[in-house]
Amino acid sequence: ATRITGELLRSMPLPNPADRASGAVDKKARGGVLVIAGSVEVPGAALLAATSALRAGAGKLQIATCSSVAPHMGLAVPEALVIGLPETPAGGISPDAADVLCERAERNDAVLVGPGMMDKDAVAALTTELVKRFADPVLVLDAEALVCLDGLREPLLRRQGRTIITPHSGEMASLLGIERDEVEADPIRVAHRVATEFGMVVVMKGECTHILDPDGECWAFESDNAGLATSGSGDTLAGIVTGLAARGATPAQAAIWGVFMHGQAGRRLAHSRGPLGFLARELPGEIPGIMAEFS
Ligand code: AMP
Ligand code: MG
Repeated sequence: ATRITGELLRSMPLPNPADRASGAVDKKARGGVLVIAGSVEVPGAALLAATSALRAGAGKLQIATCSSVAPHMGLAVPEALVIGLPETPAGGISPDAADVLCERAERNDAVLVGPGMMDKDAVAALTTELVKRFADPVLVLDAEALVCLDGLREPLLRRQGRTIITPHSGEMASLLGIERDEVEADPIRVAHRVATEFGMVVVMKGECTHILDPDGECWAFESDNAGLATSGSGDTLAGIVTGLAARGATPAQAAIWGVFMHGQAGRRLAHSRGPLGFLARELPGEIPGIMAEFS
């Protein structure tokens, strides 16, 4: 595996928004993100992911979440356009939302699905629809949205590498229907198999995070930082990666930059706040400075 370092980032600079704009850089040229996330019980995950996407430099943000949460989200994230979606009795996003979401997705550059989503069956039904129907935007799948992917190899392969998944070992185990121990015994082998067989970029999270691309190329980021093992930490990572993809980074590049900057943000907070007790919501604010440092 290639070690992910600041030097590696400098050798693969993020795209410059000016290269995409015909004239002056506007929001559209900076990239549009759609975050489909949250539930009645875990609404804040959508906020963390969405804020992180903007901090990674995306220009436009839409959040799609449960209708009862939507007005609160709009005030908590004043930068976002918020779409209220039909809810299931268990407080999740109803699969009936698929039509609305497909229409929205086409007009964005990257779409994130999963953080904070509850109601397993509803998440599986909705994710299945989205994976089958989304053509263009880069799709980042996290958390509960990963569990149904084993049955979606064909449509995922058709997306030709424009899908990124961000599982921890438990989620990877659920995806494949195996035990968590089996993943933890050899995470690289498992991630390699999924990346190549499904044609996705796999961000296999852990104390050491491995990124595998559909050709089997592997990158590794090691950071001993227990402070990052905290609620919402993975939601911010998923948001950062989605924001970078929306800006036009390739899926592997978005994953590499995202994992590195998330780790650096944790390192900075461990120094400024103390090794344990910083909050996931404090991570995104560190990103612009880190991004500037390695650009
Ligand atoms: P999640 O489990 O989805 O909240 O994601 C947790 C995030 O924190 C992932 O990006 C992990 O790689 C990272 N993480 C968890 N534990 C550690 C640790 N001990 N050292 C460094 N990073 C960690
Ligand atoms: Mg998570």
